[in-house]
Amino acid sequence: MYIVMLGAPGAGKGTQADILAREAGLPHIASGDLFRQALEKRTELGLLAKTYMERGELVPNEITIKLILERSNSPDCASGCLFDGFPRTLEQAKALDSALAAQGKSIDKAIYIKVPSEELVKRLSGRWLCRVCQAPYHIVTLPPRVPGKCDKCGGELYQRPDDKKGTVRERLKVFFSQTIPLIEYYRRQNKLVEVDGNLGIEEVAKEIAVSLNIVASSISLSRKREN
Ligand code: AMP
Repeated sequence: MYIVMLGAPGAGKGTQADILAREAGLPHIASGDLFRQALEKRTELGLLAKTYMERGELVPNEITIKLILERSNSPDCASGCLFDGFPRTLEQAKALDSALAAQGKSIDKAIYIKVPSEELVKRLSGRWLCRVCQAPYHIVTLPPRVPGKCDKCGGELYQRPDDKKGTVRERLKVFFSQTIPLIEYYRRQNKLVEVDGNLGIEEVAKEIAVSLNIVASSISLSRKREN
């Protein structure tokens, strides 16, 4: 199964993609994480992406498409994977469709997590992440037990430079102008699933699971095993 997660920055895409990838046993390909890893390793690609990321702009399509298709061509993605943060433009979506079609495959579902933009700004500008395990926190709605430290692994918490208010607004502008057309693109193909991102994390996860029958059955199977 090949799934695309769509949603504005701050909609909870990454959190939901993590849950779904675990439940469905799918590799999770997060384009933003791949760029941040490349930047941390100071690779040529990472340094190139840095200037765009700092401004809240999209990294050019040809660079992004190459990076993601290289990753999704790996053997662990032979029977499916979960794309998180990619595609973000029509050109990327079409490139992904052609690459999958060349292997006789296609996207099964595109899940759009919908959240109003005022809520997105609030969420992003209060978001802190663990430098070690990437667990997300929020200064108001989900503060860590010890300030500045991750509850799960004790790692240092940091604010992504592109979560600062000015950049957040630019990232949202980019989402509404460049990524929103993908909603229609997948709707026309009868692949779109819309989920209310204002619900709690578990409720959103359940809605997504219900919309994907295979995932829903895998959740009940794993629950049965636990019992
Ligand atoms: P994210 O972690 O998904 O919010 O992505 C962080 C930043 O990485 C974005 O603001 C872009 O600069 C870059 N990026 C991530 N995914 C893409 C993509 N599909 N196309 C272009 N740029 C991307």
